[in-house]
Amino acid sequence: MVDFSFTEEQELFRKVLREWCQKNLPIEKVREIDTKQWIPEEIIKGMADLGLWLMTAPEEHGGLGADWVTACIAAEELAYADLTIAIPVHFLVESSWGFVADRYCSERVREECIRPSIKGEAFIGIGTTEAGGGSDVAAFKTTAKKDGNDWIVNGEKTYISGTEECVHLGKGGFWITARTSPAPPEASHRGMTSFYLPMTAPGVEVSKRFDDMGRMGISCGAFTMKDVRLPNDYLMGEEGKGFYMTMEGFDLARLLIGATSIGCSQRALEIGMEYLKERKAFGRPIGKFGMIQYELADDYAKLEALRSLVYRTAWMINERYKTKSFSALECTKLISTVKLLGPPLAFKIFYDTMIWLGAWGYTKECPLEMGMRGIMSYVIGAEGALNIQRVVLVRELLGKEYIDYK
Ligand SMILES: Cc1cc2nc3c(=O)[nH]c(=O)nc-3n(C[C@H](O)[C@H](O)[C@H](O)COP(=O)(O)OP(=O)(O)OC[C@H]3O[C@@H](n4cnc5c(N)ncnc54)[C@H](O)[C@@H]3O)c2cc1C
Repeated sequence: MVDFSFTEEQELFRKVLREWCQKNLPIEKVREIDTKQWIPEEIIKGMADLGLWLMTAPEEHGGLGADWVTACIAAEELAYADLTIAIPVHFLVESSWGFVADRYCSERVREECIRPSIKGEAFIGIGTTEAGGGSDVAAFKTTAKKDGNDWIVNGEKTYISGTEECVHLGKGGFWITARTSPAPPEASHRGMTSFYLPMTAPGVEVSKRFDDMGRMGISCGAFTMKDVRLPNDYLMGEEGKGFYMTMEGFDLARLLIGATSIGCSQRALEIGMEYLKERKAFGRPIGKFGMIQYELADDYAKLEALRSLVYRTAWMINERYKTKSFSALECTKLISTVKLLGPPLAFKIFYDTMIWLGAWGYTKECPLEMGMRGIMSYVIGAEGALNIQRVVLVRELLGKEYIDYK
């Protein structure tokens, strides 16, 4: 039996969130986020009051215990409202990486970071990328060496979302990966261990804030770790198992990126359609021109296909966590499909609708350019480059022996 309906609670949740966004995130506010390069505190607080931050964390740890379909609804609605994508980024990083952190962390980390993040008083993000390794996650150089009951961490991470937010709040940190034992050349991911790194730990220093082209309301920076002493309580899960847990985080983040892509695409199409009916050229609304109509129909069709794929994948992930009825790899295969298709489709829809809007589409009076700049971060590679999703799919379709870099 296939059931494609949302539950009554999910429909109500969407309605409440849509209304909250209409009130609190009108397009002028969104533009302000883009120009001031910061998400205002009242928005962070308002989202905390709604239980949105880390909503996927279990109720006994302070979250809503939201399932992944509901988390996708939230991501979709936030992206529908905030075309800059900054709030959806902040939301999805916490709801995916925070969820995984909560699953594998000690009670101490839960108290210090997870519970405050749920209240909007801290930030929990992801720090895997290094100067020498983005797509090649296992090519990291950061090390963690055991010293009594502690670990001494050395290295640096770069292109990390949320560094300034952590510093500003003075609370929170990152899920980082570090090498704890040498790995054999044929399996460079072995020996990777995950830790919680609080940004306030002595030896941690933000070394850069990148001047990004979009999603200006959330920072992207780099930090160094020099002889940082982390207690064993900050170890996530088991030593040497960091790669698998990190991949779990990427999967969940990529799912929410799919939902984000739906939300901003839907809004762009609505802005575009309104204009197609209003703007006249050659004595008729431009929506009468076949060339534009075909683009609209194609964009709509692809968006509906993405919507079905994202929610099917979210349902599958729910089933996996509840009953293990799907394997991790079955989920990953669909998730990589979502990440491969979602952001480029959203970018294409911003591109098409901006062109329909003519010269107005090229101005900052029109909100579409913020969306195009924002979604580009996910086309480029935040939470994994598109080619890496292709590598995952080919690995699952043809077999590991067909991976071209091995
Ligand atoms: C706005 C933004 C925010 C980010 N936030 C975070 C964050 O919070 N935490 C974090 O850890 N990282 C973050 N990143 C980094 C992101 O994860 C990396 O950009 C991504 O993994 C790609 O790595 P790279 O940029 O080093 O590109 P590279 O890995 O150097 O890739 C460059 C190009 O080569 C292609 N390529 C690489 N390998 C292959 C292959 N095997 N086959 C075919 N093509 C290949 C890629 O597709 C890409 O087009 C962020 C990035 C951006 C843009």
